[in-house]
Amino acid sequence: MAKKAIFTSIALLFGLLFTIVLIRTFTFDVRTDKQSSCIDQQTEQSHPRIDIKKNKHILENFRTALRFKTISWEQNVYNPEELVKFRLFVEQTFTHIHNSPHVTYEVVANYSLLYKVQGADPKLTPYLLASHFDVVPAPSDGWDADPFGAEIKDGFIYARGTVDDKHGVMGILEALEHALENGFQPHRTFYLAFGHDEEVRGTEGAYTIGQLLKSRHVKLEFILDEGLMVTDGLMKGTEKPVAMIGVVEKGQAVAVLSVNGTPGHSSFPPFETPIGILSAAVQKIENTPYPNKFGTGAERATFEHLAPELSLPYKMLLSNLWLFKPIISWVLSLKPNTNALVRTVGAVTRFDAGIKDNIVPASARAVVNYRIHPSESVAEVIDFGKKVIQDERVQIHVKYSMEPSHTSPYGDDSFGYHTIKNSIREVFEDVIVVPSVMFANTDTRHYKELTKGIYRFSPGYLQPEMLSMIHGYNERISVWNYEKVVNFYHHVILNSDRPNLQPLKSHTEL
Ligand SMILES: [Zn+2]
Repeated sequence: MAKKAIFTSIALLFGLLFTIVLIRTFTFDVRTDKQSSCIDQQTEQSHPRIDIKKNKHILENFRTALRFKTISWEQNVYNPEELVKFRLFVEQTFTHIHNSPHVTYEVVANYSLLYKVQGADPKLTPYLLASHFDVVPAPSDGWDADPFGAEIKDGFIYARGTVDDKHGVMGILEALEHALENGFQPHRTFYLAFGHDEEVRGTEGAYTIGQLLKSRHVKLEFILDEGLMVTDGLMKGTEKPVAMIGVVEKGQAVAVLSVNGTPGHSSFPPFETPIGILSAAVQKIENTPYPNKFGTGAERATFEHLAPELSLPYKMLLSNLWLFKPIISWVLSLKPNTNALVRTVGAVTRFDAGIKDNIVPASARAVVNYRIHPSESVAEVIDFGKKVIQDERVQIHVKYSMEPSHTSPYGDDSFGYHTIKNSIREVFEDVIVVPSVMFANTDTRHYKELTKGIYRFSPGYLQPEMLSMIHGYNERISVWNYEKVVNFYHHVILNSDRPNLQPLKSHTEL
């Protein structure tokens, strides 16, 4: 009898769990918008689409911009002539912007560009659109086209900077030029900030712009900078493209590990050499993952916002993180790119030791590049590293560090988040928009004090076969996509000009 009672209780418990799981699967919806993702016809009327085929100069302007070799090699190492040529090109091309009585323009830190577009209503808090026009080096080996040729092949423009990040600079300028040309008179003041050294941490351009705005007591409603993209075919459980808005950035720490000893002859070596000691430390680091933090940050929101859109098994799992969190976080930790989402990761990027075949070296040195989960701090990460190594002979020196950013608001009343989200949905058809975590860092590190709302999104399509192009070979964007880039920023500029949030209208409401 007792056995039967236990069995019945277990069956009841499972039945109850299963019922809760099912109810949540079909009712769970944390999205702050319930509208279908379609273009609002009113919006279409008030934001007429910019057709870049009819305005052929828009495409040609972009191709010209891509041909300037505005390469950042290292901090303070760039090509000044190309940066100046790029600036002159911008000044000559966007005549409405540079002649508008609403716009003030200044060159900051010799090469970066800052615009202020004056709005008529001083009660509305300004916002800022950011991008950068420097690029990482691109040796032509491995490319199917000249990385600074901006050649069009099969509908794609090939060049360094097509998605990182000259499309942002040119897209924003074209959108504003078009708006001003058509009589746009802003209500809300906004800024455009284009850095010239983002790829080497923006220590001149964005840093100086940030300090300048701070000294002028500028407070911003929100900032939109480069960031995550519209992924197409990368998300399991849905056919729809998914646009991710980065609401938080992981932190970073570059730690130098070193072991010092005394040099000796290789014919009678010590039992332990600096290389051996350091190798053991590096192995411990690689074998000991940082704690899995899934569910403590914005990555949870990414999955919960996606859940209602997914096919059944994924929908069931992601609607019930209260139950399936351990399984999901385990699955995510199996692949390097999803593992980086759930925890702090450390990559051993350098290992230097030894000067001669028959000398035991006096020292060995390794560099570990940590990317810090938003729920941890630089100090915690270094402490954890020390505990893992547990060897006082290994010195740890933090060469560079940056704490993770704060998480920007993405709730119902977040003007910046929803303005960007609505603009994405108006321009990219049938797309799911979710908040997410940005792994890399942007110029916004220098703008942290100006606002609570920092959003990182680039209006480019990213398909699986294109993943390796960022900072890699064959960086490209389709002509069709570039048209969307210009239109996206046009929508952002017009939508942000409203005093408060205007939700999208679905077809059924029209
Ligand atoms: Zn970039």
